[in-house]
Amino acid sequence: MATTTTRTNPLSYLTDQLNELKQKGTYFKLRVLDDEQAPVCTFDGKKVINLASNNYLGLTTHPKLREAALEATKKYGVGSGAVRTIAGTMKLHMELEEKIARFKNVEACVVFQSGFTANAGTVSALLGKEDFIVSDELNHASIIDGARLSRAKIKVFRHKDAAHAEELLHEIKNESGRKLVITDGVFSMDGDIGALPQLTELAEKYGAIMMVDDAHASGVLGRNGRGTVDHFKLHGRVDVQVGTLSKAIGALGGYVCGTRDLIEFLYHRGRPFLFSTSHPPSVAATCIAAFDVLEQEPERIEQLWDNTRYWKKELGALGFNIGGVNTPASETPITPIIVGDGRLIMDFSRELFKEGVMGTGIAFPTVPEGKARIRTIMTATHTKDDLDQALDVLKRVGKRMGILG
Ligand SMILES: *Cc1c(COP(=O)(O)O)cnc(C)c1O
Repeated sequence: MATTTTRTNPLSYLTDQLNELKQKGTYFKLRVLDDEQAPVCTFDGKKVINLASNNYLGLTTHPKLREAALEATKKYGVGSGAVRTIAGTMKLHMELEEKIARFKNVEACVVFQSGFTANAGTVSALLGKEDFIVSDELNHASIIDGARLSRAKIKVFRHKDAAHAEELLHEIKNESGRKLVITDGVFSMDGDIGALPQLTELAEKYGAIMMVDDAHASGVLGRNGRGTVDHFKLHGRVDVQVGTLSKAIGALGGYVCGTRDLIEFLYHRGRPFLFSTSHPPSVAATCIAAFDVLEQEPERIEQLWDNTRYWKKELGALGFNIGGVNTPASETPITPIIVGDGRLIMDFSRELFKEGVMGTGIAFPTVPEGKARIRTIMTATHTKDDLDQALDVLKRVGKRMGILG
């Protein structure tokens, strides 16, 4: 029999907080993709030019990757059935790790389920309570979470400020704990490149471990997309290189590259590796095919950079603030259109969408207060016509909303 009890909803504070977001104008609904992740595609039933994806090289729909996924599914099924350390290591997982290690010219590689788990799992495994992490203030959330999980003491330096990083290293130079210097290779909100050469030198000078998160540099910077270590010719000097398989590589996953012992250690102590199931065979096979494409079709990266140069030049010429004044200047296919106000950016994004351009609005706390932006990301597969149409819409809507003079 039903009894009526009056119970206040213990989750009602969530509703309050959502209402607060709605009041601020930063509440959002998820946009739903109806077809493929492509430069022109359909979100919520509307065809748009897509400036929001990380599909830098167009690999999400590459025929060779698609074929590899289908073949692997036919041959090996849809799941791995266990975590890597129990029964879930398939030949394809090993083949992918060996392939990445060769590509990056390092001893060994371990693949995690995502870039997020690669960072969080690695930082938390390498450091402990007595240790120190010297971290760029704009490093990715997965690094921050990994640092917190490690319980090491976290020292944050001003963005790309190597002199400040040195001050922090100097302060702790007589401490017995281990030290880790860590930076993003490419910063995802501003598109600038991390201070790798200076930080690597500091790590050497102070006996610290050097680690880089190359999520947005994988497949984008360096020879055939080998990342920032290759871009800066720092081979052999960066101890831990993280990359992602979810962005330019087109599928899903994250990896860590370094010495054989680093990788063996992560096999034993990386918690997402130990406690979360490995990739389906289709994902591993897709990624293997992707690294072949990186080597065989370098024209994709060239096209990506051609498009990037054109896009930045034209956006700047329209009069948009694309960074560089009071914000870092982009050096990569990520180009922010900085507008400032959080509510305005959400309105701007909605209006652009209505006119056929998908550009995601990003506001506080993802970027600093007053630095709200549309983050645009160029890909190799946007045509010049796509770009000109998008520029046209940006100009029209920008003028109408008073964002452009
Ligand atoms: C996207 C991103 C990640 C996470 O990668 P996933 O593979 O999507 O989990 C980690 N670090 C940075 C800097 C990123 O931009």
